[in-house]
Amino acid sequence: MMTKPEPDTTLDFAALPAREAEMARLLARQIRIPSTKSAPAPGAPYGAETLRALEDFLAQGAADGFRVRNLDGHAGWIELGEDDPERPIVAAVCHLDVVPAGDWTDAFTPRLDGSVMTGRGSSDDKGSAVACYFALRDLREAGYRPDCRLRLILGLDEESGMNCMAHYNEVDEAPAAAFTADAGFPVIHAEKGLLQFQIHIPAAAADEGAEPGLRLVRVIAGSRPNVIPGSCRLLWQHADESIETCDVEGVQGHAAAPENGKNAISLAMDMAARRLAEAGQSDSLVTAYQDLIGLETDGSRLGIAGSDEVSGRLTMNVGLIDLDSSGVCLTCDIRYPVTWRLDDLLAKMRARVAGHGGEVHVIHHSDPLYLPKDHPLVATLTEVYRAAGGENTEPMAMGGGTYARSLPNTVAFGPGFPGEDGGAHQTGESVNLASLNRARQIYTTAFRALDRIYRRS
Ligand SMILES: [Zn+2]
Repeated sequence: MMTKPEPDTTLDFAALPAREAEMARLLARQIRIPSTKSAPAPGAPYGAETLRALEDFLAQGAADGFRVRNLDGHAGWIELGEDDPERPIVAAVCHLDVVPAGDWTDAFTPRLDGSVMTGRGSSDDKGSAVACYFALRDLREAGYRPDCRLRLILGLDEESGMNCMAHYNEVDEAPAAAFTADAGFPVIHAEKGLLQFQIHIPAAAADEGAEPGLRLVRVIAGSRPNVIPGSCRLLWQHADESIETCDVEGVQGHAAAPENGKNAISLAMDMAARRLAEAGQSDSLVTAYQDLIGLETDGSRLGIAGSDEVSGRLTMNVGLIDLDSSGVCLTCDIRYPVTWRLDDLLAKMRARVAGHGGEVHVIHHSDPLYLPKDHPLVATLTEVYRAAGGENTEPMAMGGGTYARSLPNTVAFGPGFPGEDGGAHQTGESVNLASLNRARQIYTTAFRALDRIYRRS
């Protein structure tokens, strides 16, 4: 059923060192598969192309002599070690689904410039999967006989809900220890809690009876709760009933790092409040926004600002706004410290929002992840990275969410090195094959070290 995949012959890999060239060939072939989530097909719950990416990868594994399995088109794995259910599983976890090309026209045509490969998925996360795969191949070629089952798990729905890992947990065995190669080095031992919710506030009756004059009739912006909106549109109505459109620009970015962006919704509402004040008018929804959100990104006006020692401060992003004469709906994203409790957070917000006659509705929640620095998994990976000469070796916390939250006994670990940015989700996404090769060597050592620590006692 599985045929050995054809090598990619369209790029010239001759200038690369041998191991990098081998990795580049597999990566180039993967980039050519536009494995963006699409309509379900038979055996492919996330779309035919995601299944094709998995089948291609598994075919490579099978051709190289590994045991492989397709878990109903949700995920799959490639495994080294004796097929014995008594043996613990040590796993690397990556994903083969990619975000859409956007306006990038040749996203799925790999390019090679020196040791840099460009293409959708090169950095997030097909390159990582290739690095982990070659770590397993290193061990196999060296004749290494693990005590554990060493597994590369490949998911197909990381970018839109992580249902692939829910399926994995349902049908397969939990790893005793795992790392997901979908972030950066060093070890990420804490991921903040993630809460996405909507605030609904109806317009106050007083707005209707207001004197004729300047009125804000519509505000619309945003695409997703976890994206800092880069622009916001306001519609103003003048006393003569004419409509004026006003676009406010911000800087788009990721909700987990509000300091890297400028929220266009907050800028627009701030501007609206000043303009109304100058015109001697007011608007209950603008007042509510200023009272509850403002320009801050720490949730202070909602009464939820704060931090803990492990993971730092709470961050807040208003991702979407839809305001008209009947009311406003704000779709928000909060990353909260790992030692906090969701119930407390919600109670505080609900009390503040109720003061404006509004309600809070949760749309998505993911518990924080936290493993102490002396946890065997964290300590072992930290030691491996330190021994490999890594910089900034102390385990870190982050606001983004990885597979580590969806699979037990898992932390994020590489493959990006401090200061590197592959431009995940952006046009021109790329990966440096020399760095990826360095990550591969770290993963080879990590597999060996975890195999020793987690072997049957
Ligand atoms: Zn990813």
